[in-house]
Amino acid sequence: MSKNCPKCEGILEEETQPVPKKVPLPIPLKPTMSIEKYLPSIMKKYSNYTIFICSLCGYMEVFFKR
Ligand SMILES: [Zn+2]
Repeated sequence: MSKNCPKCEGILEEETQPVPKKVPLPIPLKPTMSIEKYLPSIMKKYSNYTIFICSLCGYMEVFFKR
């Protein structure tokens, strides 16, 4: 699925990522540290986000999914 850029003739590139709630620490055993308290609370309701970026002009859209 590709979307046309609303600002120029480019195509928006799409990538979906989980909303980060933990980060691995760069030390042995790689424990994870919760970063949830640093997230905007409105983001905590969603588990994934999809980002669209136009490779020509840099126009960006982000959508969150539960
Ligand atoms: Zn564009």
